[in-house]
Amino acid sequence: MGDSMIEIRALEFTYPDSDFFLRIPSFQIDKQEKVAVIGPSGSGKTTLLNLVAGILVPEHGTVRCGGSDISALGDAARRDFRITRIGFVFQDFELLDYLGMLDNVLHPYRISKALKLTREVRERAGDLLQQMGLGDKLTHGVGRLSQGEKQRVAICRALLPSPQLVLADEATGNLDPRNKGHILDLLFEAVQAHGSTLLAVTHDHELLPRFDRTIDFNDFLGGTGS
Ligand code: ADP
Ligand code: MG
Repeated sequence: MGDSMIEIRALEFTYPDSDFFLRIPSFQIDKQEKVAVIGPSGSGKTTLLNLVAGILVPEHGTVRCGGSDISALGDAARRDFRITRIGFVFQDFELLDYLGMLDNVLHPYRISKALKLTREVRERAGDLLQQMGLGDKLTHGVGRLSQGEKQRVAICRALLPSPQLVLADEATGNLDPRNKGHILDLLFEAVQAHGSTLLAVTHDHELLPRFDRTIDFNDFLGGTGS
């Protein structure tokens, strides 16, 4: 299985105060694959991305990511792993409203010793924001940006470290149709250029042909008998 980027086996997960139960007998994504995840709201798509990123830890089973068993790593190691290897575009962006765009994009470099903030990184951050059509607003606080602008900042932050895995949680959900095509092109170009793997949750069925494969989240739900 040397070509796997993500490998999940016999996973079981519950939240402490909820009757939601996620069970994934087996799930695998190859390196450099581009996979879309679809499924109804509340079915566990965001939970899956959080498990893959090591933000959540399963009660049972294993999550291997880039060859590492992340369910076996300690908190600090898991965080470093995530910050250096995974670009996560969160569904709710998770930007810091009191910081400007550029500082949001550079923030992972400031909070983790695992990433080195060099002049080259700064320049690339500016270039990325420029490509996303945000180049004239680098120091604007993100609190007052539109949803679509926040989403683009979140995408830049995720892509800056050239992660081997990009997790995108409805990353085009707030973009108008014209921006959507452009931003998606940039996301796919970045993934292609770095030979990264892409796992993207989307509700946008017209985008599905751009992916190598689509996973319908209903297949993971209880009673599939696998
Ligand atoms: P999706 O992304 O497919 O809409 P989620 O993974 O966000 O679904 O949520 C799956 C289920 O888990 C939902 O029923 C949701 O209410 C519940 N859930 C999500 N996050 C938490 C949490 N932190 N604590 C308790 N329940 C949660
Ligand atoms: Mg979600």
